[in-house]
Amino acid sequence: MSNRAERLTALLAPAEVDVMLVSDQVNLRYLTGYTGDNGLALVGPSTRTFITDFRYVEQAAEEVDSSFERRQASLDLLEAVEDALAGGSVRLGFEDASLSVLTHGRLRELLGSRVELVAAGKLVEQLRAVKEPGEVARIRAAAALADEAFQNLLAAGLVGRTERNLALELERELRLRGARRPSFEAIVAAGPHGALPHAQPRDVVVGPVQLVVIDWGAELDGYCSDCTRTVATGELGEDAARVYELVLEAQVKGVEAVAAGRSARDVDGVAREVIEAGGHGDHFGHGLGHGVGIAVHESPRLSQRSDDELCAGNVVTVEPGVYLPGQFGVRIEDLVVVTDGGCEILTSIAKELIVVD
Ligand code: ZN
Ligand code: ZN
Repeated sequence: MSNRAERLTALLAPAEVDVMLVSDQVNLRYLTGYTGDNGLALVGPSTRTFITDFRYVEQAAEEVDSSFERRQASLDLLEAVEDALAGGSVRLGFEDASLSVLTHGRLRELLGSRVELVAAGKLVEQLRAVKEPGEVARIRAAAALADEAFQNLLAAGLVGRTERNLALELERELRLRGARRPSFEAIVAAGPHGALPHAQPRDVVVGPVQLVVIDWGAELDGYCSDCTRTVATGELGEDAARVYELVLEAQVKGVEAVAAGRSARDVDGVAREVIEAGGHGDHFGHGLGHGVGIAVHESPRLSQRSDDELCAGNVVTVEPGVYLPGQFGVRIEDLVVVTDGGCEILTSIAKELIVVD
């Protein structure tokens, strides 16, 4: 973990920052190991300071990487920042993607004129995007656990149960297998409801001969998984079968396009072209995928608006979808690790259409 602080330090000079104030609690956990919810870290070439209040002192002693000097402050941790900065003028970077305007004002008020506040962007997020082998192992384990939970859900059948009941059952299966919690609220969306990419499970019974979109993930050992399968509860009509095959082709081609050095926009484009050629370009309104790690949505982004370039160690989803309002939706999502020559798929569930009762 001290290695992470070193990697962050290497990014500071190009950002014209002397010391970085890490206030985002997810970034803080990544950098220091601290899992509480009131902490700050200051990181610079000769600064490794972790600040928390009395409630978390013991927890911090257990969790925070030993390269950090730990300090106890009042509940308002900002009051301790100036003291922790060495004398002389300091350019203090802050996380402008998450630090509130209110907090910024308060910092300005508390810090002397020797401290200049510099909006530093998403430096820690940049580090988080490239996983260490130990992180990939944790994500792999979360994905395996989630796959098992799903297989158990299917084995008990879908027809006659409500979306909400199925989502709850899936969550139970995850927790029974050791997941801390689902990595997000599971989506179970049948028939026309599946045309909403972010559908919330309803008290509506799943019927026969429907497409059911199921999107779920587990959080295990601090890391998330994310997967979607669209299953059928009976023999599909021609239209639905054709759309399923189209999304499957886009997904497979998308996965094949993933490799270190590829632009995330190009990879999105490869899958998008398949869906456009099939006449459903207007029905695929979201990006192809996103990074997954401590958070279920993180860098890099695979979309037409992304400037990210994929690199070895990224863990991303590949999840094209076609959503036909009033009819049905199909989404197929795998989790993959980017490698130099391509990628490795972490999801083990088959992608050919699964038909269940
Ligand atoms: Zn998902
Ligand atoms: Zn996803």
